[in-house]
Formats: sequence, structure tokens, C-alpha cells
Amino acid sequence: MLFEPRFMKYREECNQEKQSIRTVEEWIRFRNKWYDSKGWPKKSSEQITNETEFKRRLTSGKLGGRSWAYSYLMHDLTPEAIYELFYTSYHVGFKLTNPELYYSKKEAGPEVYWEQDCPFCGISTREIGDEDCPVCARSMIYVILEVER
Ligand SMILES: [Zn+2]
Repeated sequence: MLFEPRFMKYREECNQEKQSIRTVEEWIRFRNKWYDSKGWPKKSSEQITNETEFKRRLTSGKLGGRSWAYSYLMHDLTPEAIYELFYTSYHVGFKLTNPELYYSKKEAGPEVYWEQDCPFCGISTREIGDEDCPVCARSMIYVILEVER
């Protein structure tokens, strides 16, 4: 049976709280209450192998004219839950904790790289472009990375 974290099970209550978040402190309180990963099941090595194989094939060619990398979460949450978790963390949490970066132009700079991620599909690209995922059409989020030296 698929595991359903509390933030999905009590989605309405969670969404109401989410909409009232105005400060970093409120965000941290929300995150600790709803996104605490203690008790979330971990994926088996077989699940990870299958998922990796699927994504390796998915990202082997270009998608929407761009090159992609893939990743996975070690916790066994549904793609819907993972999307909700990362989408909120970016559009509520990151926006409050890093407003300058959140509103900045997303491009490859001298010290940082932006990546576009689809948490639902678990794929990402450094070729910044169309904001919709070429696989599932969900709105992707931005993730900032430091440039490797
Ligand atoms: Zn997607």
C-alpha cells in the first residue's frame, strides 16, 4: 500500500495553514509540523534500481530540446506528495528565506547555477527555458547550485 504523509492526508488543513504563512518563523513552524520526515518509509534497493533504470531511459535523449539529469528521493512518497513538498518549499519557504534569489533572473552566473527541476518526475536541467515539465507538464521549480570548481 502506498504511504500517504500527513500533509497529503490532511491536505485541506495543511493548505489553510500554508496560505496564512507570512514570516520565516511561520514557515519553519509549518515545515516542522508538516514536513517532518521521521516515520516516512524508505525505498527498497529494488525500488531504487527500477526507478533509476526508468529515469536513465527517460533522460537518455533530449526532452523538449534540452538535456536532463535525474534524481530520486530516498523516502517512498508518491510523486504527487514529492511535488507538493518541493513546490511548497520553493514557492513558500525559499521565497521567504531568500527573496532576492527567488525574484532574481534565473541564469548561469559566475558563482551559481540555476537548475529547473520537476519534483514529480525527478528530473532536472541546467538549460533554463520553458517552465513546464516536458514529461508531465507541471510547473517546474528552480533550484540553485554552486558551481563546481
Ligand atoms: Zn514532470
